[in-house]
Amino acid sequence: MIHAYHPTTIKLHNDHCPHAVELWKQGVKYDRSIFHTGVVAHTVLEKIGQQPEKEPQELADRIVEKYCSKGRAYDNVPEPPSPFEDALRGAKLALEWHARHPVPPAGDGVTHEHHFAFDKNWNTVEYYDKNAKFRTMLDVVEISQEYDESTDQAYTKAVVRDYKTSWIATKNELDSFQRRCQAVVVWLTYKPDIIVLEIANLRTKGIYKKELNMHFEKDTLQEWKDDITLAIKTLDNKLIPNPGMGCIKCPYSPRCQHFDDMYNSEDIIKKYIAAKEVIRNLEPQIKLDTKDQPPTEMSLGSVGYITKERKKILPSAKETLLQEWRKQDGTLEHLFAQLDLSIRGIEKIAKILTKNKTDKEELISKLTKLESYASFGIQKVKK
Ligand code: SF4
Repeated sequence: MIHAYHPTTIKLHNDHCPHAVELWKQGVKYDRSIFHTGVVAHTVLEKIGQQPEKEPQELADRIVEKYCSKGRAYDNVPEPPSPFEDALRGAKLALEWHARHPVPPAGDGVTHEHHFAFDKNWNTVEYYDKNAKFRTMLDVVEISQEYDESTDQAYTKAVVRDYKTSWIATKNELDSFQRRCQAVVVWLTYKPDIIVLEIANLRTKGIYKKELNMHFEKDTLQEWKDDITLAIKTLDNKLIPNPGMGCIKCPYSPRCQHFDDMYNSEDIIKKYIAAKEVIRNLEPQIKLDTKDQPPTEMSLGSVGYITKERKKILPSAKETLLQEWRKQDGTLEHLFAQLDLSIRGIEKIAKILTKNKTDKEELISKLTKLESYASFGIQKVKK
């Protein structure tokens, strides 16, 4: 059977293990519930772009209604309906984004949800063509003819916009494997002179850009294309599992035999990694189930939200302390000498005392020093 790989499939191999791709090939389903908010946000923005004559709120309401009742299909695979709260959050993110950065209407070089597919020789094919070997969908592609006054020449510019709903998607995302795939497919399809890769962060409302000039970077694009070709060739092989650190956050861990073997192994480090991953998966579900509920009683204890007590500092504490200190003829200097400084306190005061970030950092560096310490835990190397 011919498999058409997505950038995310290739990333599975990179971030987790070859067997994750094997499970993907077998069509093993994994929990996609974390994507509901992003999926709705993307669809609302797509529809706003495709139907600019309609009220954005009306389009958003229609999508929420559909996605929360019938669900949607991704690559022709049906997905369950979204929870209402996630869908509303996604719609709100999209509408707020559109209010700040109006979505360009489709047509005139602008395509929303642009589908790309290629066969093994990089010939363009229909998205669902049975010979497709590489497929991807880009959120927005804008192709325009520009004019450069300095050279008196027209040139083609391609803007590739990727909407992200993660807080941490910033300029670091501009050089990811996914971004490289996006640049390659647009380069092959439109042969632009300039490609602008854009990350549009729907949470922070920030836009991050990187420009590639094809007159100087053809070799780089060719290299990226060769990397994808090699990845596809590699993934077509029978892939051997490599359970270990890659299992952390692997979407297939609840359905993977090799993960279960690791959990049951005698190797305590492997067992520990697997146990942490099980907890990471279970804790959000248990927290949700036990929220607003009395703790579940078990023999010798209970699980859930248990009421505990802790001391909180009153807003009036500083004033009361100062008054008491003065009653005993203490000076502010004496009181200050008794107080413990915290990093947070220093950062707060440094912000008040300085005019810009550089000065603030400089002052903080005079007041603090970096030291190494042993912190126990699992650290996964970011690739
Ligand atoms: S759970 Fe571990 S072994 Fe199984 S596919 Fe994921 S990374 Fe591989």
